[in-house]
Amino acid sequence: MFEVPELTVIAGQMNGVLPGLTVAGGGLGNSPHKFVWYDRTPEEFAGLVVGREVGLARVEGKWLFLPLEPGYVLLIGEWGGRIRYHPSGEALPAKRHLDLTFTTGAALSATTQMWGGVHLCEAGQEHEVKYVKDMRPTPLDEAFDRRYFGELVVEAQQAGKRSVKGLLTQDQLIPGLGNAIAQDIMFRARLHPRRSLADLREGQLDGLFAAITGTVRDVIAAGGRSDERDLFGRSGGYARLMDAKAAGRPCPRCGTPVVKISYLGGACYLCPDCQQ
Ligand SMILES: [Zn+2]
Repeated sequence: MFEVPELTVIAGQMNGVLPGLTVAGGGLGNSPHKFVWYDRTPEEFAGLVVGREVGLARVEGKWLFLPLEPGYVLLIGEWGGRIRYHPSGEALPAKRHLDLTFTTGAALSATTQMWGGVHLCEAGQEHEVKYVKDMRPTPLDEAFDRRYFGELVVEAQQAGKRSVKGLLTQDQLIPGLGNAIAQDIMFRARLHPRRSLADLREGQLDGLFAAITGTVRDVIAAGGRSDERDLFGRSGGYARLMDAKAAGRPCPRCGTPVVKISYLGGACYLCPDCQQ
């Protein structure tokens, strides 16, 4: 699943190769998938995208915005798979859920193994899409500062008993984070996934805030996580500290064996000594 760092890397790469290209054809894939949500029929989509020019891509949370000018914005979100650029002459993936071909012969494809949403919005309407509408500040937004983070934690506590992992992964409280990056954030902040927000001291909140913004920036700087691919099919350079491979191995900080627990709809990998 792409989280905000991987999508940010992909959007940056798109902006190196796509702007100014003219769409020659568009399709909503050739492989039916129960968990891909479209807001257009394939015919409608093809008719609307032809002749439009690609603008500058941008990211909000787990959503990528690609302007097709004039008049439209293509949104790809909650995507668990690949988004790929194909130079002229390169074959598209055999199975795909979205494709745009350009008059130069180059193409863009998107394929998911999990789920995802594809919306072609009229420009100006893109913030009406479910999950995009009313999105809270993401860790890359200027508004996501330490004061805002403190208020968010208070609000999350008031809305019900909430743990550290719940803050990081549930209800889009911090858009763009997911179960993958959350593991390393919690390790960096030395907090257990089940730790209640109500128990955190100011210094621990400072540490958690720094771990969120620092980890997101580190993953972007490394070109995304190593278990995801970028726009050109390359693996990212950020190897997670806490993932399935870490289970049973010594904690990189203290040497205690890393354990796996199941919590809030996914596996967590943590150091039982460092993370309390
Ligand atoms: Zn440790």
